[in-house]
Amino acid sequence: MIEVEGVKIDTRHWIGGERVASTRSFPDISPIDERHLGDLDAAGAAEVDQAVTAARAAFPAWAALGPTGRGAILRRVADGIDERREDLARVETRDNGSLLRSHRRGVMPRVAMNFRFFADYAEKLAHPGMEVRGHRERITYDPAGVTAIITPWNAPLMLATWRIGPALAAGNTVVLKPPEWAPLTASLLADIAHEAGLPAGVLNVVQGTGAEAGAPLTRHPGINRLSFTGSVPTAGVIAAAAAPNVVPLSFELGGKSPLLIFADADLDLAVDLAVEQFDNAGQVCLGAFRLLVQEPIAEEFTARVVERARALVQGDPRDERTDVSALISRPHFERVRGFVDRALADGARALLGGGPNTSLNGLYYSPTILADARPGSEILTEEVFGPVLTVQTFADEDEGVRMANETRFGLAATLVTGSAEKAERVSEKLSAGTVWVNCFFVRDLGAPFGGNGKSGIGREGGTYSFDFYCDVKNTVFSPAGWRES
Ligand code: NAD
Repeated sequence: MIEVEGVKIDTRHWIGGERVASTRSFPDISPIDERHLGDLDAAGAAEVDQAVTAARAAFPAWAALGPTGRGAILRRVADGIDERREDLARVETRDNGSLLRSHRRGVMPRVAMNFRFFADYAEKLAHPGMEVRGHRERITYDPAGVTAIITPWNAPLMLATWRIGPALAAGNTVVLKPPEWAPLTASLLADIAHEAGLPAGVLNVVQGTGAEAGAPLTRHPGINRLSFTGSVPTAGVIAAAAAPNVVPLSFELGGKSPLLIFADADLDLAVDLAVEQFDNAGQVCLGAFRLLVQEPIAEEFTARVVERARALVQGDPRDERTDVSALISRPHFERVRGFVDRALADGARALLGGGPNTSLNGLYYSPTILADARPGSEILTEEVFGPVLTVQTFADEDEGVRMANETRFGLAATLVTGSAEKAERVSEKLSAGTVWVNCFFVRDLGAPFGGNGKSGIGREGGTYSFDFYCDVKNTVFSPAGWRES
């Protein structure tokens, strides 16, 4: 047990409704001040096997409860999350360095919604039957079995519950492997789920590194679905590990999304949307880090974004006044620094920032805006995952669209224009799972979410989640062969 921000956290795994210890552990370091928060039990193949076995054992009874029975319990889990919102917010902030004010107002309410929304959705889920040549076709959603969920550190609890919610609502049981850089709220979620009456083995949490705890889970023959959120290189390794068992995969990966600003745009709105990209110190998969601005407004727009970004307050994320916090870890900090250093050496110009924030010790990298990056260079093509924006200009619509689509990713694209016709036209041409027009980050949980290209495989949200977490079954009834009973 450790205490973080006044909240007691069990450092052991949660398997089959019990706390389970390991002989090995891993350290948890806070990005805020690089303080060692404690050591957590580190799973290997044995604990993972124990968790999958527990999930398999719990599956038949959980599936048999049906959407209404499951929904009642999942809504109690949501209530428990609401009751402990402040604890969850404080612990998540301490653990991954993202803003406390965001957790309080946006993230933790969404975490609860991940359970309520999909509990409601499962109860209404139905596919219209069909009559084909006199045969009735009935389409139903059967639970698939055990779902393995592996998540990253940038929004640990939100991203975990965005899968756990629909997977459990669909009637599956779950083994979660939270990120080793920010594992704490997963342990609290296990407590909350238990107190809400979630039966033993329905949700299991195994902690540890990707190599030691994640890898055995991905190759385990007892899993029926694998949902992974993380980086492209890890996705490749996981896909290969899961392949022999032919496990269906849902991958939500990285991005290098554009923010396309046309000369007819509402400039205040465009500047707001650009500055919003510094949220979570740029550690956001959806972030629109490539600012593409039409030439006539480029100078004014850029000057205004730089001025606004310069005024952002960087510091401790527990302070409500802070806008930009620290990067997650020392290796990640060095990675971000390397990207910017190489870009500057390659001819890019820093309009703002361009290095660590030397007034703050630790993992604080200054909000950075780069111009004149060499076309095709890595700063324009690779995911930096830090507070780093690039600015490029385009002459006309065709060039803007071409530059926006010049990426191997395709998670999101945002465009800002005052013309409804242009918005229709350009949005159709953009290659991305989500296109935002004059807005950013808003989305209903019923809508599909996922990426094109290297940004992922599949879509989740609403029916799309149930298509993935269920075995969708078609039963064809013949009009012939009935006996009077
Ligand atoms: P990562 O790929 O390094 O790790 C993600 C998770 O995978 C962690 O839990 C890690 O322990 C685990 N893992 C690592 N190696 C593994 C292996 N061999 N087998 C099984 N599991 C393994 O990613 P990260 O650095 O934690 O997160 C940042 C990345 O996540 C970025 O690329 C970001 O864009 C992406 N991301 C995507 C979305 C989305 O919805 N598309 C959301 C958030 C983050």
